[in-house]
Amino acid sequence: MKKILILFIFELPILLFAQSSKKLHFKAVLVDTHNDVLSSSVLEGKDISHRLTTGHSDLDRWREGGLDVQFFSVWTDRTPRNKEGFFKDANQEIDSLEIITLRNAFRMTLATNYKEVKKGIKQKKLVALIGVEGGHMIEDDLTKLDSLYKRGMRYMTLTWNNSTSWATSAMDETAPSKSPPPAGGETYVDSTRRKGLTEFGKQIVRRMNELGVIVDLSHVGEQTFYDAIATTSKPVLLSHSSVWNICPVFRNVKDDQIRAVAKNGGVICVNFYSGFLDSNFAKKMAFLEGTEGKKIKDSLGQNYDAVKLNEVWNKYFSAQLEPYRPTISKLVDHIDYIAKLVGDDYVGIGSDFDGVSSLPVGMDDVTKYPLITDELKRRGYSNKSIKKILGGNVLRVMKSNFKK
Ligand SMILES: [Zn+2]
Repeated sequence: MKKILILFIFELPILLFAQSSKKLHFKAVLVDTHNDVLSSSVLEGKDISHRLTTGHSDLDRWREGGLDVQFFSVWTDRTPRNKEGFFKDANQEIDSLEIITLRNAFRMTLATNYKEVKKGIKQKKLVALIGVEGGHMIEDDLTKLDSLYKRGMRYMTLTWNNSTSWATSAMDETAPSKSPPPAGGETYVDSTRRKGLTEFGKQIVRRMNELGVIVDLSHVGEQTFYDAIATTSKPVLLSHSSVWNICPVFRNVKDDQIRAVAKNGGVICVNFYSGFLDSNFAKKMAFLEGTEGKKIKDSLGQNYDAVKLNEVWNKYFSAQLEPYRPTISKLVDHIDYIAKLVGDDYVGIGSDFDGVSSLPVGMDDVTKYPLITDELKRRGYSNKSIKKILGGNVLRVMKSNFKK
């Protein structure tokens, strides 16, 4: 009896904490602004209406994780899948999302305005929205922007890793110059690679504002970022970006950018990718992808053909990175950093689930979102503040961008 009593006294606060955190998580509106399941699973023929044993997401698991609103990323690589081009690729992915939504109408809805978002949440359905990742999808054509809007696009990321003729990406703006490095050996960037937004790019941003398509500045170079912030009349979104000061990699955002987003009334949704969260993971990755890694790969390859070598190398690669995977606490450090720098109104969740090869330990799939709420609560965040971070801030940005 005494033993039970002692156990009760010690366990009770933990139990109560877990209960109240869980209650808060499922009561709050959880919005995730970036998920790649369309291009990574659905186009591969997988049916997310059923629970999958692969990938990070499906309808059952979203429910379990307490997700209310999901921006589905419509993305294609720097070379299109269809011979007709990027625009065709985008339309094909939107077709597939429409089919999933139709087949699951009892538990899912595709929203195109704020009223529909709120209605879907109230009905306890998963609210789907379309986010197009990369300006290359509109093929330098404003009528294609309008056309994707009509099909439901509600944010467009101005660039992916590839630049367009009208906007430079973070990857290109930070790439080492092909010209010989200046004396002193430091890398520098070609001015042509840092041209930012052209006049046509600014026209695109203004058209997006008119239509009610949120301007997404994840992936864009710093010059493009500042040009877009100066051009837009509406709050911006960074749909899946983390903090440069914690993990200085090419497309994480610096303090001045975070301050600029806060001034604009926008929101930065933190990306869960290990390589954007933890600088040691990022360094190890760079090592394995660099010349030293190539030497190791070559030494492994002596007994294998090319296919087998890739398989062996991929296994080696993941095993080497495994000990460097960050904790969930590290992920929350990024949220915390933004909240401490500019306040809790400008940060949200942009997981990049199904678009990344490594996630923090324990953050295995979309069922694990509640662990973020636990960690925020443990750090003393108020319920009000947690609700803003989980979705309230993104809802505000949607409301101020979308047409009635
Ligand atoms: Zn991305």
